[in-house]
Amino acid sequence: MHVSPALRERLATIVGRDSVLSTQDETLVYECDGYTLERSAPEIVVLPRTTAETSQIIRALSDADVPFVPRGAGTGLSGGALPLGAPVMICTSRMNRIRDVDTANRRVVCESGVVNAWVSRAVREAGLYYAPDPSSQPACTIGGNIAENSGGPHTLKYGVTTNHVLGVEIVLPDGEIADLGGVVEDTPGYDLTGLVVGSEGTFGIVTAATLRLLRQPERTCTFLAVYESVDDASETVSGLIGHGIIPAALEMMDRLIIEAVEAAYHFGFPTDAGAVLIIELDGAAAALEEDSARVLAVCRQNRARDVRVAGDEQERALLWKSRKRAFGAIGRLAPNYCTQDGVVPRTRLPDILRRISAAASTHRLRIANVFHAGDGNIHPILLYDERDPDEVERVLAAGAEILQACIELGGSVTGEHGIGIEKVAHMPRLFSPDDLIAMQQLRAVFDPRGLSNPNKVFPDSKTCVEVRRPRRQVPI
Ligand SMILES: Cc1cc2nc3c(=O)[nH]c(=O)nc-3n(C[C@H](O)[C@H](O)[C@H](O)COP(=O)(O)OP(=O)(O)OC[C@H]3O[C@@H](n4cnc5c(N)ncnc54)[C@H](O)[C@@H]3O)c2cc1C
Repeated sequence: MHVSPALRERLATIVGRDSVLSTQDETLVYECDGYTLERSAPEIVVLPRTTAETSQIIRALSDADVPFVPRGAGTGLSGGALPLGAPVMICTSRMNRIRDVDTANRRVVCESGVVNAWVSRAVREAGLYYAPDPSSQPACTIGGNIAENSGGPHTLKYGVTTNHVLGVEIVLPDGEIADLGGVVEDTPGYDLTGLVVGSEGTFGIVTAATLRLLRQPERTCTFLAVYESVDDASETVSGLIGHGIIPAALEMMDRLIIEAVEAAYHFGFPTDAGAVLIIELDGAAAALEEDSARVLAVCRQNRARDVRVAGDEQERALLWKSRKRAFGAIGRLAPNYCTQDGVVPRTRLPDILRRISAAASTHRLRIANVFHAGDGNIHPILLYDERDPDEVERVLAAGAEILQACIELGGSVTGEHGIGIEKVAHMPRLFSPDDLIAMQQLRAVFDPRGLSNPNKVFPDSKTCVEVRRPRRQVPI
Protein backbone atom coordinates (compact mmCIF):
# COMPACT_ATOMS: atom_id res chain seq x y z
CA MET A 1 0.00 0.00 0.00
CA HIS A 2 1.34 3.43 -0.93
CA VAL A 3 0.58 7.02 -0.08
CA SER A 4 -0.76 8.80 -3.15
CA PRO A 5 0.64 12.21 -4.17
CA ALA A 6 -2.80 13.72 -3.44
CA LEU A 7 -2.84 12.35 0.12
CA ARG A 8 0.75 13.48 0.68
CA GLU A 9 -0.26 16.99 -0.43
CA ARG A 10 -3.28 16.96 1.88
CA LEU A 11 -1.10 15.97 4.86
CA ALA A 12 1.44 18.70 4.04
CA THR A 13 -1.38 21.24 3.92
CA ILE A 14 -2.48 20.20 7.43
CA VAL A 15 0.89 20.20 9.21
CA GLY A 16 3.21 22.11 6.88
CA ARG A 17 5.90 20.65 4.63
CA ASP A 18 8.55 20.65 7.36
CA SER A 19 6.40 18.24 9.38
CA VAL A 20 6.15 15.55 6.70
CA LEU A 21 9.30 13.43 6.33
CA SER A 22 9.65 11.20 3.31
CA THR A 23 13.21 10.94 2.01
CA GLN A 24 15.15 7.79 2.78
CA ASP A 25 17.55 9.75 5.01
CA GLU A 26 14.68 11.23 6.98
CA THR A 27 12.71 8.02 7.53
CA LEU A 28 15.67 5.73 8.27
CA VAL A 29 15.73 6.66 11.96
CA TYR A 30 12.11 5.46 12.26
CA GLU A 31 12.78 1.96 10.84
CA CYS A 32 12.64 0.27 14.24
CA ASP A 33 12.07 0.87 17.92
CA GLY A 34 14.14 -0.71 20.72
CA TYR A 35 13.33 -4.13 19.23
CA THR A 36 15.93 -4.08 16.50
CA LEU A 37 15.59 -7.61 15.16
CA GLU A 38 12.98 -6.44 12.66
CA ARG A 39 13.13 -3.22 10.63
CA SER A 40 10.96 -1.41 8.15
CA ALA A 41 11.04 2.30 7.39
CA PRO A 42 7.67 4.04 7.00
CA GLU A 43 6.84 5.65 3.66
CA ILE A 44 6.21 8.94 5.39
CA VAL A 45 6.37 10.28 8.93
CA VAL A 46 3.96 13.03 9.98
CA LEU A 47 4.71 15.19 13.03
CA PRO A 48 1.57 16.96 14.27
CA ARG A 49 1.80 19.72 16.89
CA THR A 50 -1.79 19.65 18.16
CA THR A 51 -4.77 17.40 18.71
CA ALA A 52 -6.65 19.27 15.94
CA GLU A 53 -3.84 18.53 13.46
CA THR A 54 -3.76 14.87 14.54
CA SER A 55 -7.51 14.63 13.99
CA GLN A 56 -7.24 16.16 10.51
CA ILE A 57 -4.36 13.84 9.58
CA ILE A 58 -6.28 10.78 10.69
CA ARG A 59 -9.45 11.95 8.91
CA ALA A 60 -7.43 12.30 5.69
CA LEU A 61 -5.98 8.79 6.14
CA SER A 62 -9.40 7.37 6.94
CA ASP A 63 -10.89 8.96 3.80
CA ALA A 64 -8.13 7.29 1.77
CA ASP A 65 -8.39 4.03 3.75
CA VAL A 66 -4.68 4.22 4.62
CA PRO A 67 -3.49 2.57 7.88
CA PHE A 68 -1.09 4.34 10.23
CA VAL A 69 1.23 3.54 13.12
CA PRO A 70 1.54 5.77 16.21
CA ARG A 71 4.99 6.45 17.61
CA GLY A 72 6.25 8.26 20.68
CA ALA A 73 9.99 8.09 21.37
CA GLY A 74 10.53 4.64 19.81
CA THR A 75 11.95 3.08 22.99
CA GLY A 76 9.40 0.23 22.86
CA LEU A 77 10.92 -3.23 23.10
CA SER A 78 8.33 -5.36 21.29
CA GLY A 79 8.28 -3.77 17.83
CA GLY A 80 4.98 -1.97 18.53
CA ALA A 81 5.99 1.12 16.55
CA LEU A 82 7.22 -0.87 13.54
CA PRO A 83 5.27 0.11 10.40
CA LEU A 84 3.77 -3.14 9.22
CA GLY A 85 1.09 -2.72 6.59
CA ALA A 86 0.92 0.92 7.72
CA PRO A 87 2.76 3.30 5.37
CA VAL A 88 2.17 6.41 7.50
CA MET A 89 3.77 6.92 10.90
CA ILE A 90 2.31 9.59 13.18
CA CYS A 91 4.93 10.66 15.66
CA THR A 92 3.86 12.61 18.75
CA SER A 93 7.25 14.11 19.64
CA ARG A 94 6.11 17.67 18.86
CA MET A 95 3.00 17.38 21.03
CA ASN A 96 5.06 17.92 24.13
CA ARG A 97 3.35 20.54 26.28
CA ILE A 98 2.22 20.16 29.85
CA ARG A 99 -1.18 21.82 29.58
CA ASP A 100 -2.14 22.14 33.23
CA VAL A 101 -0.65 21.46 36.65
CA ASP A 102 -3.19 21.25 39.47
CA THR A 103 -1.19 20.66 42.64
CA ALA A 104 -4.18 21.12 44.95
CA ASN A 105 -5.98 18.21 43.30
CA ARG A 106 -2.71 16.38 42.58
CA ARG A 107 -3.09 15.97 38.84
CA VAL A 108 -1.49 17.10 35.66
CA VAL A 109 -2.78 17.27 32.10
CA CYS A 110 -0.10 16.72 29.48
CA GLU A 111 0.17 15.99 25.80
CA SER A 112 1.13 12.49 24.79
CA GLY A 113 4.59 13.43 23.47
CA VAL A 114 5.67 14.70 26.89
CA VAL A 115 8.64 12.70 28.15
CA ASN A 116 7.89 10.70 31.30
CA ALA A 117 10.62 12.31 33.44
CA TRP A 118 9.40 15.83 32.61
CA VAL A 119 6.19 15.26 34.56
CA SER A 120 7.89 14.69 37.92
CA ARG A 121 10.32 17.49 37.16
CA ALA A 122 7.44 19.92 36.58
CA VAL A 123 5.87 19.22 40.00
CA ARG A 124 8.96 18.55 42.12
CA GLU A 125 8.90 21.97 43.81
CA ALA A 126 5.35 21.28 44.98
CA GLY A 127 6.51 18.08 46.72
CA LEU A 128 4.74 15.84 44.19
CA TYR A 129 5.78 13.27 41.58
CA TYR A 130 4.43 10.92 38.92
CA ALA A 131 4.99 7.35 40.13
CA PRO A 132 5.38 5.13 37.01
CA ASP A 133 9.10 5.29 36.25
CA PRO A 134 10.21 3.02 33.39
CA SER A 135 13.98 2.82 33.22
CA SER A 136 13.65 4.57 29.86
CA GLN A 137 12.00 7.56 31.57
CA PRO A 138 14.47 10.20 30.34
CA ALA A 139 13.28 9.41 26.78
CA CYS A 140 9.96 7.55 26.61
CA THR A 141 6.70 9.44 26.24
CA ILE A 142 3.49 9.43 28.24
CA GLY A 143 1.63 8.27 25.09
CA GLY A 144 3.97 5.28 24.73
CA ASN A 145 3.62 4.52 28.47
CA ILE A 146 -0.16 4.53 28.14
CA ALA A 147 -0.11 2.35 25.02
CA GLU A 148 2.13 -0.22 26.75
CA ASN A 149 0.76 0.17 30.29
CA SER A 150 4.38 0.58 31.32
CA GLY A 151 5.83 -0.32 34.67
CA GLY A 152 9.14 0.52 36.29
CA PRO A 153 11.20 -0.09 39.42
CA HIS A 154 8.79 1.82 41.66
CA THR A 155 5.58 0.27 40.38
CA LEU A 156 5.85 -2.65 42.82
CA LYS A 157 4.30 -0.58 45.59
CA TYR A 158 2.50 2.11 43.59
CA GLY A 159 1.10 0.26 40.58
CA VAL A 160 1.71 0.54 36.84
CA THR A 161 0.57 3.24 34.41
CA THR A 162 -3.08 2.23 34.43
CA ASN A 163 -3.27 3.04 38.16
CA HIS A 164 -2.20 6.63 37.48
CA VAL A 165 -4.18 7.66 34.40
CA LEU A 166 -7.45 9.40 35.21
CA GLY A 167 -8.47 10.24 31.66
CA VAL A 168 -7.29 10.35 28.05
CA GLU A 169 -7.96 12.45 24.99
CA ILE A 170 -7.78 10.14 21.99
CA VAL A 171 -8.18 10.62 18.25
CA LEU A 172 -10.12 7.61 17.00
CA PRO A 173 -9.23 5.98 13.67
CA ASP A 174 -11.93 7.98 11.82
CA GLY A 175 -10.52 11.29 13.11
CA GLU A 176 -13.09 11.87 15.88
CA ILE A 177 -11.66 13.32 19.10
CA ALA A 178 -12.95 11.52 22.22
CA ASP A 179 -12.44 12.45 25.87
CA LEU A 180 -12.51 9.37 28.09
CA GLY A 181 -12.44 9.29 31.87
CA GLY A 182 -12.08 12.60 33.62
CA VAL A 183 -10.45 14.53 36.39
CA VAL A 184 -12.09 12.72 39.29
CA GLU A 185 -11.22 9.32 40.72
CA ASP A 186 -14.20 7.48 39.31
CA THR A 187 -16.58 8.20 36.46
CA PRO A 188 -19.84 6.39 35.81
CA GLY A 189 -20.14 3.91 32.95
CA TYR A 190 -17.58 1.55 31.50
CA ASP A 191 -13.93 2.19 32.28
CA LEU A 192 -12.95 3.15 28.73
CA THR A 193 -9.76 4.84 29.94
CA GLY A 194 -8.72 1.50 31.42
CA LEU A 195 -9.37 -0.14 28.05
CA VAL A 196 -7.20 2.35 26.19
CA VAL A 197 -4.30 1.89 28.60
CA GLY A 198 -2.36 -1.10 27.29
CA SER A 199 -4.11 -1.18 23.89
CA GLU A 200 -0.76 -0.73 22.12
CA GLY A 201 -1.95 1.95 19.71
CA THR A 202 -4.72 -0.20 18.24
CA PHE A 203 -7.58 2.09 19.33
CA GLY A 204 -6.24 5.35 17.81
CA ILE A 205 -3.74 7.98 18.92
CA VAL A 206 -3.76 9.28 22.47
CA THR A 207 -3.09 13.01 22.24
CA ALA A 208 -3.28 13.99 25.92
CA ALA A 209 -3.79 12.47 29.36
CA THR A 210 -4.78 13.48 32.85
CA LEU A 211 -2.33 11.87 35.28
CA ARG A 212 -2.51 11.35 39.02
CA LEU A 213 0.34 12.75 41.12
CA LEU A 214 1.59 11.42 44.44
CA ARG A 215 3.14 13.23 47.37
CA GLN A 216 6.88 12.61 47.71
CA PRO A 217 7.53 10.24 50.60
CA GLU A 218 8.80 11.70 53.86
CA ARG A 219 11.86 9.45 53.76
CA THR A 220 13.44 6.74 51.66
CA CYS A 221 15.96 4.11 52.61
CA THR A 222 17.84 2.27 49.86
CA PHE A 223 19.80 -0.95 50.38
CA LEU A 224 22.24 -2.80 48.17
CA ALA A 225 22.27 -6.46 49.18
CA VAL A 226 25.07 -8.61 47.77
CA TYR A 227 24.77 -12.39 47.16
CA GLU A 228 26.98 -15.23 46.03
CA SER A 229 24.14 -16.68 43.96
CA VAL A 230 21.06 -15.60 42.03
CA ASP A 231 19.12 -18.28 43.95
CA ASP A 232 19.79 -16.60 47.31
CA ALA A 233 18.78 -13.22 45.92
CA SER A 234 15.54 -14.70 44.51
CA GLU A 235 14.74 -16.35 47.84
CA THR A 236 15.15 -12.96 49.50
CA VAL A 237 12.54 -11.48 47.15
CA SER A 238 10.00 -14.14 48.14
CA GLY A 239 11.05 -13.78 51.80
CA LEU A 240 10.50 -10.02 51.91
CA ILE A 241 7.05 -10.17 50.38
CA GLY A 242 6.22 -13.21 52.53
CA HIS A 243 7.04 -11.15 55.63
CA GLY A 244 4.53 -8.53 54.52
CA ILE A 245 7.17 -5.98 53.49
CA ILE A 246 6.27 -4.21 50.24
CA PRO A 247 9.32 -2.20 49.23
CA ALA A 248 8.85 0.76 46.92
CA ALA A 249 11.31 -0.99 44.59
CA LEU A 250 12.98 -4.39 44.49
CA GLU A 251 15.39 -4.85 41.60
CA MET A 252 17.87 -7.60 40.78
CA MET A 253 21.05 -7.55 38.68
CA ASP A 254 23.16 -10.63 37.98
CA ARG A 255 26.92 -10.89 37.57
CA LEU A 256 27.13 -10.10 33.85
CA ILE A 257 25.11 -6.91 34.32
CA ILE A 258 27.02 -5.94 37.48
CA GLU A 259 30.28 -6.15 35.55
CA ALA A 260 28.98 -4.00 32.68
CA VAL A 261 27.34 -1.43 34.97
CA GLU A 262 30.40 -1.16 37.18
CA ALA A 263 32.67 -0.65 34.18
CA ALA A 264 30.35 2.11 32.96
CA TYR A 265 29.35 3.98 36.14
CA HIS A 266 31.89 3.01 38.86
CA PHE A 267 29.32 2.85 41.64
CA GLY A 268 31.37 0.30 43.53
CA PHE A 269 29.34 -2.82 42.76
CA PRO A 270 31.18 -6.01 43.77
CA THR A 271 32.06 -7.57 40.42
CA ASP A 272 32.67 -10.99 41.98
CA ALA A 273 29.08 -11.22 43.34
CA GLY A 274 26.55 -13.63 41.82
CA ALA A 275 23.73 -11.11 42.14
CA VAL A 276 22.73 -7.90 43.88
CA LEU A 277 19.34 -6.63 44.99
CA ILE A 278 18.42 -2.96 45.20
CA ILE A 279 15.74 -2.67 47.86
CA GLU A 280 14.09 0.66 48.51
CA LEU A 281 11.68 1.42 51.33
CA ASP A 282 9.77 4.67 51.57
CA GLY A 283 7.20 6.24 53.86
CA ALA A 284 7.01 7.86 57.29
CA ALA A 285 10.35 8.00 59.13
CA ALA A 286 9.14 6.04 62.18
CA ALA A 287 7.78 3.12 60.14
CA LEU A 288 10.95 2.96 58.05
CA GLU A 289 13.14 2.25 61.02
CA GLU A 290 11.20 -0.87 61.95
CA ASP A 291 10.92 -2.08 58.32
CA SER A 292 14.64 -1.51 57.72
CA ALA A 293 15.52 -3.87 60.55
CA ARG A 294 13.19 -6.50 59.06
CA VAL A 295 14.73 -6.10 55.60
CA LEU A 296 18.22 -6.60 57.01
CA ALA A 297 17.07 -9.72 58.85
CA VAL A 298 15.49 -11.28 55.74
CA CYS A 299 18.58 -10.50 53.62
CA ARG A 300 20.83 -12.17 56.20
CA GLN A 301 18.50 -15.17 56.57
CA ASN A 302 18.97 -15.69 52.83
CA ARG A 303 22.74 -15.55 52.98
CA ALA A 304 23.41 -11.98 51.86
CA ARG A 305 27.15 -11.60 52.19
CA ASP A 306 26.91 -7.83 52.55
CA VAL A 307 24.11 -5.24 52.87
CA ARG A 308 24.95 -1.59 52.28
CA VAL A 309 22.66 1.36 52.88
CA ALA A 310 22.88 4.40 50.60
CA GLY A 311 24.38 6.99 52.95
CA ASP A 312 22.84 10.09 51.43
CA GLU A 313 20.70 11.32 48.54
CA GLN A 314 23.72 11.54 46.25
CA GLU A 315 24.64 7.90 46.78
CA ARG A 316 21.03 6.84 46.30
CA ALA A 317 20.83 8.83 43.05
CA LEU A 318 24.03 7.18 41.76
CA LEU A 319 22.73 3.74 42.65
CA TRP A 320 19.51 4.35 40.73
CA LYS A 321 21.37 5.92 37.84
CA SER A 322 23.47 2.76 37.59
CA ARG A 323 20.36 0.59 37.62
CA LYS A 324 18.30 2.67 35.24
CA ARG A 325 21.14 3.02 32.77
CA ALA A 326 22.06 -0.65 32.95
CA PHE A 327 20.79 -1.19 29.39
CA GLY A 328 23.13 1.53 28.17
CA ALA A 329 26.08 -0.39 29.61
CA ILE A 330 25.27 -3.57 27.68
CA GLY A 331 27.13 -2.26 24.63
CA ARG A 332 30.24 -3.23 26.60
CA LEU A 333 29.17 -6.88 26.50
CA ALA A 334 28.10 -7.47 22.89
CA PRO A 335 27.36 -5.60 19.65
CA ASN A 336 23.63 -6.45 19.86
CA TYR A 337 21.13 -7.55 22.44
CA CYS A 338 17.52 -8.60 22.59
CA THR A 339 15.62 -7.96 25.83
CA GLN A 340 12.99 -10.52 26.67
CA ASP A 341 10.09 -9.57 28.93
CA GLY A 342 8.10 -12.16 30.80
CA VAL A 343 6.46 -12.51 34.17
CA VAL A 344 6.07 -15.35 36.66
CA PRO A 345 4.56 -15.52 40.14
CA ARG A 346 7.39 -14.13 42.26
CA THR A 347 7.74 -17.38 44.20
CA ARG A 348 8.76 -19.00 40.88
CA LEU A 349 11.67 -16.60 40.30
CA PRO A 350 14.34 -19.16 41.23
CA ASP A 351 12.74 -21.64 38.77
CA ILE A 352 12.59 -19.22 35.86
CA LEU A 353 16.15 -18.03 36.45
CA ARG A 354 17.32 -21.64 36.33
CA ARG A 355 15.39 -22.15 33.07
CA ILE A 356 17.02 -19.01 31.62
CA SER A 357 20.42 -20.31 32.58
CA ALA A 358 19.60 -23.69 30.96
CA ALA A 359 18.46 -21.91 27.76
CA ALA A 360 21.77 -20.03 27.69
CA SER A 361 23.72 -23.32 27.88
CA THR A 362 21.58 -25.16 25.35
CA HIS A 363 21.79 -22.37 22.79
CA ARG A 364 25.40 -21.38 23.56
CA LEU A 365 24.51 -17.79 24.42
CA ARG A 366 25.35 -15.29 27.10
CA ILE A 367 22.22 -14.04 28.88
CA ALA A 368 22.35 -11.20 31.40
CA ASN A 369 19.56 -10.47 33.88
CA VAL A 370 18.39 -7.14 35.26
CA PHE A 371 14.78 -6.94 36.29
CA HIS A 372 11.92 -5.81 38.52
CA ALA A 373 12.20 -8.82 40.80
CA GLY A 374 9.46 -7.76 43.19
CA ASP A 375 6.87 -8.05 40.42
CA GLY A 376 8.25 -11.38 39.15
CA ASN A 377 8.92 -9.42 35.93
CA ILE A 378 12.03 -10.85 34.26
CA HIS A 379 14.17 -9.17 31.61
CA PRO A 380 16.74 -11.65 30.34
CA ILE A 381 19.04 -9.86 27.92
CA LEU A 382 20.23 -12.15 25.16
CA LEU A 383 23.59 -11.00 23.82
CA TYR A 384 24.51 -11.57 20.19
CA ASP A 385 26.20 -10.27 17.11
CA GLU A 386 23.78 -9.64 14.25
CA ARG A 387 26.52 -10.41 11.73
CA ASP A 388 26.32 -14.06 12.83
CA PRO A 389 23.05 -15.47 11.39
CA ASP A 390 23.39 -18.72 13.33
CA GLU A 391 23.67 -16.82 16.60
CA VAL A 392 20.58 -14.78 15.71
CA GLU A 393 18.62 -18.00 15.15
CA ARG A 394 19.79 -19.25 18.54
CA VAL A 395 18.69 -15.98 20.18
CA LEU A 396 15.21 -16.36 18.71
CA ALA A 397 15.00 -20.01 19.81
CA ALA A 398 16.21 -19.25 23.34
CA GLY A 399 13.78 -16.30 23.64
CA ALA A 400 10.85 -18.51 22.64
CA GLU A 401 11.96 -21.19 25.11
CA ILE A 402 12.12 -18.68 27.97
CA LEU A 403 8.64 -17.34 27.23
CA GLN A 404 7.27 -20.88 27.06
CA ALA A 405 8.86 -21.49 30.48
CA CYS A 406 7.09 -18.38 31.83
CA ILE A 407 3.75 -19.81 30.70
CA GLU A 408 4.52 -23.22 32.19
CA LEU A 409 5.40 -21.60 35.53
CA GLY A 410 2.00 -19.88 35.69
CA GLY A 411 3.08 -16.53 34.26
CA SER A 412 2.73 -14.68 30.99
CA VAL A 413 4.74 -13.68 27.92
CA THR A 414 4.92 -10.01 28.78
CA GLY A 415 5.25 -8.21 32.08
CA GLU A 416 5.35 -4.69 30.69
CA HIS A 417 6.78 -4.36 27.18
CA GLY A 418 3.64 -5.46 25.35
CA ILE A 419 2.96 -7.91 22.53
CA GLY A 420 3.78 -5.65 19.57
CA ILE A 421 4.96 -7.86 16.72
CA GLU A 422 7.49 -9.71 18.77
CA LYS A 423 5.02 -11.86 20.63
CA VAL A 424 1.99 -12.26 18.38
CA ALA A 425 2.89 -15.89 17.81
CA HIS A 426 2.67 -16.49 21.58
CA MET A 427 -0.87 -15.16 21.98
CA PRO A 428 -2.55 -18.49 21.05
CA ARG A 429 -0.45 -20.18 23.73
CA LEU A 430 -2.03 -17.92 26.32
CA PHE A 431 -5.55 -17.39 24.98
CA SER A 432 -8.16 -19.64 23.40
CA PRO A 433 -9.44 -18.83 19.86
CA ASP A 434 -12.68 -17.56 21.44
CA ASP A 435 -10.75 -15.23 23.76
CA LEU A 436 -8.79 -13.83 20.83
CA ILE A 437 -11.94 -13.30 18.78
CA ALA A 438 -13.63 -11.51 21.70
CA MET A 439 -10.62 -9.20 22.07
CA GLN A 440 -10.63 -8.39 18.36
CA GLN A 441 -14.36 -7.66 18.49
CA LEU A 442 -13.63 -5.18 21.25
CA ARG A 443 -10.87 -3.58 19.21
CA ALA A 444 -13.30 -3.30 16.27
CA VAL A 445 -15.59 -1.09 18.39
CA PHE A 446 -12.84 1.54 18.32
CA ASP A 447 -11.29 0.67 14.98
CA PRO A 448 -13.69 -1.31 12.76
CA ARG A 449 -11.41 -1.10 9.69
CA GLY A 450 -8.20 -1.96 11.54
CA LEU A 451 -6.45 1.26 10.46
CA SER A 452 -4.62 2.02 13.71
CA ASN A 453 -1.43 0.02 14.18
CA PRO A 454 -2.48 -3.00 12.08
CA ASN A 455 -0.84 -6.42 12.39
CA LYS A 456 0.07 -5.96 16.04
CA VAL A 457 -1.02 -7.87 19.13
CA PHE A 458 -3.24 -10.42 17.35
CA PRO A 459 -2.06 -13.32 15.24
CA ASP A 460 -4.01 -13.44 12.03
CA SER A 461 -3.82 -16.18 9.45
CA LYS A 462 -3.39 -13.68 6.61
CA THR A 463 -0.92 -11.36 8.20
CA CYS A 464 0.68 -13.36 11.00
CA VAL A 465 4.23 -12.16 11.44
CA GLU A 466 6.85 -14.70 12.16
CA VAL A 467 10.07 -13.06 13.18
CA ARG A 468 12.83 -15.24 11.83
CA ARG A 469 15.44 -13.09 10.17
CA PRO A 470 17.48 -10.25 11.60
CA ARG A 471 17.14 -6.88 9.95
CA ARG A 472 14.58 -8.21 7.50
CA GLN A 473 12.98 -5.32 5.67
CA VAL A 474 9.30 -5.89 6.24
CA PRO A 475 7.26 -5.08 3.14
CA ILE A 476 4.60 -2.45 3.81
C1 LIG B 1 16.64 1.18 28.11
C2 LIG B 1 15.16 0.85 28.18
C3 LIG B 1 14.58 0.62 29.41
C4 LIG B 1 13.22 0.34 29.50
N1 LIG B 1 12.66 0.15 30.72
C5 LIG B 1 11.35 -0.09 30.83
C6 LIG B 1 10.74 -0.29 32.11
O1 LIG B 1 11.38 -0.22 33.15
N2 LIG B 1 9.42 -0.54 32.15
C7 LIG B 1 8.66 -0.61 31.00
O2 LIG B 1 7.45 -0.86 31.09
N3 LIG B 1 9.20 -0.44 29.78
C8 LIG B 1 10.51 -0.18 29.66
N4 LIG B 1 11.06 0.01 28.42
C9 LIG B 1 10.21 -0.08 27.21
C10 LIG B 1 9.67 1.27 26.69
O3 LIG B 1 10.49 2.35 27.10
C11 LIG B 1 8.23 1.51 27.13
O4 LIG B 1 7.38 0.55 26.50
C12 LIG B 1 7.70 2.91 26.79
O5 LIG B 1 6.43 3.10 27.35
C13 LIG B 1 7.60 3.20 25.29
O6 LIG B 1 7.37 4.59 25.13
P1 LIG B 1 7.73 5.31 23.76
O7 LIG B 1 7.29 6.72 23.85
O8 LIG B 1 9.13 5.12 23.41
O9 LIG B 1 6.76 4.53 22.77
P2 LIG B 1 7.07 3.91 21.33
O10 LIG B 1 8.16 2.93 21.40
O11 LIG B 1 7.21 5.00 20.34
O12 LIG B 1 5.71 3.15 21.06
C14 LIG B 1 5.34 2.04 21.85
C15 LIG B 1 3.93 1.59 21.44
O13 LIG B 1 3.01 2.60 21.80
C16 LIG B 1 2.28 3.06 20.67
N5 LIG B 1 2.13 4.50 20.89
C17 LIG B 1 3.11 5.42 21.12
N6 LIG B 1 2.58 6.62 21.35
C18 LIG B 1 1.23 6.48 21.26
C19 LIG B 1 0.12 7.36 21.39
N7 LIG B 1 0.29 8.65 21.66
N8 LIG B 1 -1.12 6.86 21.23
C20 LIG B 1 -1.32 5.55 20.96
N9 LIG B 1 -0.31 4.67 20.80
C21 LIG B 1 0.94 5.13 20.97
C22 LIG B 1 3.13 2.67 19.47
O14 LIG B 1 2.35 2.46 18.30
C23 LIG B 1 3.75 1.38 19.95
O15 LIG B 1 2.84 0.32 19.76
C24 LIG B 1 12.43 0.27 28.30
C25 LIG B 1 13.03 0.50 27.06
C26 LIG B 1 14.38 0.78 26.99
C27 LIG B 1 14.99 1.03 25.64
